Amino acid sequence: MPPQHQDPTEQASRRFKKTVEDFVCYNCGTKVSGNGYTDHCPVCLWGKHVDIMPGDRSAGCHGHMRPIGAAYKSGTYTIYYECEGCGRRSGFKAAGADGADVLASLVSAQHRRKI
Ligand SMILES: [Zn+2]
Ligand SMILES: [Zn+2]
Repeated sequence: MPPQHQDPTEQASRRFKKTVEDFVCYNCGTKVSGNGYTDHCPVCLWGKHVDIMPGDRSAGCHGHMRPIGAAYKSGTYTIYYECEGCGRRSGFKAAGADGADVLASLVSAQHRRKI
């Protein structure tokens, strides 16, 4: 077998791993299966500071993103985060798998802060 031979199946699975990130949640320990888009835990909603623009993965910080509030508008939740690493605040759209209870409590936390 020549050394440059590569099994096409193996190649495909390597590419797949590049875009999909599985991670263990820093806050609650849930094992999260990434789908290439997921960057936060669906149980407690903690995330990781990896994006400057959503999905670009170009932030060098990699600090833990604490959910500090949420807003509900036209059928979608936006979760507001504060990064424990650099203090940067940002908002990201919630994913379909995210816990509705946690989202609802974040919305009321957001309201309390405004008052
Ligand atoms: Zn979690
Ligand atoms: Zn950060």
